[in-house]
Amino acid sequence: MSGIAAIVSCIDGYDPDALHIEKAREAILACLSPVVETERIAIRAALGRVLAEEIVPAINVPATDNSAMDGYAVRFEDLDAGRPAVLREIGSALAGRPYAGGEMPPGTCVRVMTGAVLPAGSDTVVVQEIVRAEGARITVPPGQKKAQNVRYAGEDLRAGVPVLRPGVPLRPAELGLLASLGIGEVLVRRRLRVAMFATGDELASIGEALREGEVYDSNRYTLHAMLERLGVEIQDLGVVRDDPGELEAALRRATREADAVITTGGVSVGEADFVKPLAAKLGEVLFWKIAMRPGRPMAFGRIGGAMLFGLPGNPVAVMVTFYEFVRDALLHLSGRSDNFRLPLLSAAAALPLRKVPGRTEYQRGILFREDGTWKVRTTGQQGSGVLRSMSEANCFIVLEHERGRVEAGEPVQVQMFDGLV
Ligand code: AMP
Ligand code: MG
Repeated sequence: MSGIAAIVSCIDGYDPDALHIEKAREAILACLSPVVETERIAIRAALGRVLAEEIVPAINVPATDNSAMDGYAVRFEDLDAGRPAVLREIGSALAGRPYAGGEMPPGTCVRVMTGAVLPAGSDTVVVQEIVRAEGARITVPPGQKKAQNVRYAGEDLRAGVPVLRPGVPLRPAELGLLASLGIGEVLVRRRLRVAMFATGDELASIGEALREGEVYDSNRYTLHAMLERLGVEIQDLGVVRDDPGELEAALRRATREADAVITTGGVSVGEADFVKPLAAKLGEVLFWKIAMRPGRPMAFGRIGGAMLFGLPGNPVAVMVTFYEFVRDALLHLSGRSDNFRLPLLSAAAALPLRKVPGRTEYQRGILFREDGTWKVRTTGQQGSGVLRSMSEANCFIVLEHERGRVEAGEPVQVQMFDGLV
C-alpha cells in the first residue's frame, strides 16, 4: 500500500510548497488505480457509463446496399452519357419491403424509397425529382454518376472491425450505435463511489438559524451537483466540526467504502496543522501549496482504499480545484481512457486583466461575440469567496503560470462552462 510520497517525489520539478498545476495533475494521476469491477447493464441505463469491453460488430450496418434517396434504381450501363435514357419501371421497393422480382433485366428500373434494399442488378439511384415518368416509361436525363445515391453494406459499421474500445464513455451516439448492432446490454465499469463532507465550526446547515459568525454551508451543494454531473455514486456525510475526534470518525467512515473522498475546508495553513497529524495517523496525505489562484492549499493522499482530495474551504476555490484536479482524477479512476481533459479555447481579452507571473489564475469570465470575434471579460470581483462570480460566468479565463498582466486585445485561454458547471 501507500507509497504516494515515493511516487510523487519521482516527478521532475515536484515542490509541494510551490506546486505548478501541471505537476499537481501529474502527481495525482500517477497515484491512481482505476476501478476494475464491471457489470452488465441494459443500454437504456448506460448513459455516461464507461465501457469495459471491446465492441466488434457481428453484422454489417447497413446490412445490405440500399438507396439513400427516393427515386429509381437503375443499371448504370443502361444510361447514356450524352442524351436521355428511357427505361421501363418494373416494380418498387420500400424500406423493409425489398423488390421481389429477382434480377433486373437490361433497360428496366425499379422505383425505390430511402432505405430500400438495392434490387439485384442495379447499382445506381436516380432521384425522383429529375426523371420524367409517363406511366411505366421513365426518362432519365444525362449526366448521372455511377453508384450515386447508394449506401453500401457495412459503410457505417463493418462486421469484424472493432468500433468501440474499453474506456470510452457511453454517450447518446454510442448507445444508438450499439442499438444499430442489435446489442441490448453492455459491460461497463462499476460506478465510482465518492464520499464527501464539509468541515468548519462556522458552518450552519439549511434549516438552521444563522448565529453570529456563521455561514450556510454551500460547498456540499456545489460538490454534490458537480459529482452528480460526473455520474458517480455519492455518499454525503454532512458537516463535520473542526474537532479531531469528529474529523477522525468522519474520515474513517468515508474511507470505509468509497473509492474517493472529497472534503472542503481545513487545509489552509493554520488549520492544516491540526489536520496533519490525524491524516498521518490514518493514511498517507500530502499537503500542497499549489501555484494557482484561487485554490492554493490542497491535500491529496490515500486513506485505506480511498483517494483523498482535501479541497480548500472557499466556495470558488472548491469549484476551481474540483474542475482542474478532482474531475480528471475521478474520470481516470472510473476507467476512462479517452482524452477527457477539458479543452482550452482562445479568445481576445476585451479589457486588461491583472495577473502576476508565478501562478496559474482561473478568473471567472464572460465570453461574448462582438464585431465578429469572440471576446472575454471578467465578471468583476474575483475573491475566492465570491460564488456569484461563478454564477455570472460562462467560462474560466485561464491565465498561464508565467504570464503577467494582459492587455486588451491579447489572446487568452478560456475553458467553457457549458455542459460542465
Ligand atoms: P477554510 O479553508 O476552512 O479556512 O475556509 C476558508 C473560507 O471558506 C472561510 O471563510 C470559510 O468560512 C469558508 N467556507 C469553508 N467551508 C465552507 C462551506 N462548506 N460553505 C461555505 N463556505 C465555506
Ligand atoms: Mg475551516
